[in-house]
Parts: sequence; C-alpha cells; structure tokens
Amino acid sequence: MIIDSHFHLAIDGYNNTFSYLDGTNGIPLVRPAVRRKKLLEEYKKNGIVTFIDPAIGMSYNERSLQLYNELSGTCQYYRAVGNHPGKCFDPDSYYERIYTANGIELSKRHMGIFARWKMRYKLDEYAGHESVIAIGECGFDYRKGRNNHLIEQKRWFVYQIRLADRFGLPLILHIRDSAKRAISVLRKNKEYLNHGGVWHCYNEDPKWAEIITQEFDRFYIGIGGYLFHEQYRDNIEASIKMLPLERILLETDGPYCMPPNPNRLPKTRWETALKNSKKSAVVQTILREKKYHLNRKKKLLSNKKYKKARNSSLILPMVINRIAEIKGVSPSVVEEITSQNVKDLFKI
Ligand SMILES: [Zn+2]
Repeated sequence: MIIDSHFHLAIDGYNNTFSYLDGTNGIPLVRPAVRRKKLLEEYKKNGIVTFIDPAIGMSYNERSLQLYNELSGTCQYYRAVGNHPGKCFDPDSYYERIYTANGIELSKRHMGIFARWKMRYKLDEYAGHESVIAIGECGFDYRKGRNNHLIEQKRWFVYQIRLADRFGLPLILHIRDSAKRAISVLRKNKEYLNHGGVWHCYNEDPKWAEIITQEFDRFYIGIGGYLFHEQYRDNIEASIKMLPLERILLETDGPYCMPPNPNRLPKTRWETALKNSKKSAVVQTILREKKYHLNRKKKLLSNKKYKKARNSSLILPMVINRIAEIKGVSPSVVEEITSQNVKDLFKI
C-alpha cells in the first residue's frame, strides 16, 4: 500500500479535465485528460487509496472540506488545515473596512490585528473537524516574490505550532530558503512540539534534515518528485543516505513539484553536435543541424504538453524505486516502512 502524505486534490487544477503524470512504468508519462473521479479510480487500480491534503491558504480549508464531503468515503481522504506562509498576508482578508460607532475608519494597523484574530478563530474551528489530522502547511517561504511580510509569516508559524499542540496534531512544515530561521523558531517553541511533524518536499542541505529528525521528537522528511531534479538531487540523495527509512515519508505535492520531463534535450546538445562534426563534412553537418532542429521542435512541443500535465500520486513508484536503490533494499520494504511512518505520525 502506498500513502501519499501530501497531495492537493482540492486544488482548482483538478476540477475540470486535466492530463496527468503516470510514473508506474519507471518514467513519468503524460496520460490523456481525465476528471478527478477517473484519476482516483486509476489510483485505486495501483493500490493508492490514502492521501493527505494540506491547506495552501485560508480559503483552501473551505475547499478541502467541501471535497471531503463530496468524496464521502470513496477513498481515505484526510485534511490538514492551516495558513500557508506564502499566502499568510492576504490584503483582501486583512484590510476589511471597519468603522467605530461614530463612523470613523480605524487605521490599517488596527484592522490588521482584528482580521488576523478573526482568521485565527476560523482556523481553530476548522482544526476541530473529524477529517483533520494535521496543521499546515505552515512555516517560512523566503523565495523571491514570496519573501514579503516576514513578521506576519512568523506570527502565523508560531500560532500554528501552538494550535497543533492544543489540538494534539502533528505539523506539516513548508520551509523554503529559510531553514536556519525555521529551525530557530522550532527550537524556541520546543515545548509545544509534542506531536511531531514533517518537513515537506525536502530539498535542503542534509544537515537540516539531521537536525530536525534528531533534535525534535517524531519529525520526518517528505520526499517526492524533486528527487529527480538536477538542482536538488544531490541534497536529497545525501539526506536519504543519512536518514533511516523510519524517518522518511512519500509525497507528491501534486499538482506541483513534478519530476523533470525525461524527453527534454540537454542545452549543450547543439554545441556538441557542431564540435563533433569534421570540417570536411560540411554537408553532413548541415543535414544534422536540420534533423536536430526538427527533433528539437518536436521535443519542445512535448515539453509544453508535459508542463501542462498535473502531477499525480502515480509517480510515487518511481520515487520508491530510487529510494530503494539508494538504501540498497527492495522497493516493497520502502513502501511498507514509509506507509507505516505516515500511519504513526498522523495516527490514521
Ligand atoms: Zn504543498
């Protein structure tokens, strides 16, 4: 049994028809457009019936609740509720126009505080629902374009750490380019970290994985499609080597974090083709060039198609196989231990 510990099924991208990635044959292939229901049927055929859907913003909590009611028992759909660090400062919900009794508009600062508490009460309400098994995504996002409102990000992070403790729930952490800061906040709030958590979509230096799993009780590392990206591969593989399997969870973060397109041409191909051709064989070079461009056009088209596809839990067999290779065990061992980890952490 495979459990996807992080999959945003309630996202709009899965509402209408969409093509999706299927990695059950070892490489990610684009499958023709389906609807959400059909995708879940495909999952079932491949033994994937359990997944956790964490919130990517305040309004998402409502959407996932709606989906939970719609699915009503057709699969094991669990929710995490929270306020994502990249979206924790939503001006529309913050700057409500509030007036005093004599009609004077309150300052923006006051409005911010008022709206923040209103959202927090709402979050408390969401956290009590039977389908909720964790709090998140919460944490820090310091990536370019999202690294605004850093104080607000911290307020929400700390609030959610304590909320999780009050409800006896684990945390789903979203930490991007901010490992040092996140660890420092977690250290300062250690007394509230009694129910564990997961650092989702891990791609940082292995030293942070070591710290979070050793310094804090029942903390795990989430591994998904980024394992195949050149940019993150070394960090993730080193982390997998260093960690015991008992500290790893599988996830897709669908529709995000897709594995790279296996058909994509390396950028240097054009230069190598020219370099290898002998001066005397000009004609041959021209022909090769022509062929190359035709091929490239075809590949680029397929890349467009690839990028449009949604990530799905069907890429998890690829992730399992790669982890098994790194750890030198059989894929079934990886599948069994990581699924047990999800059950242990989220108590499902
Ligand atoms: Zn996510």
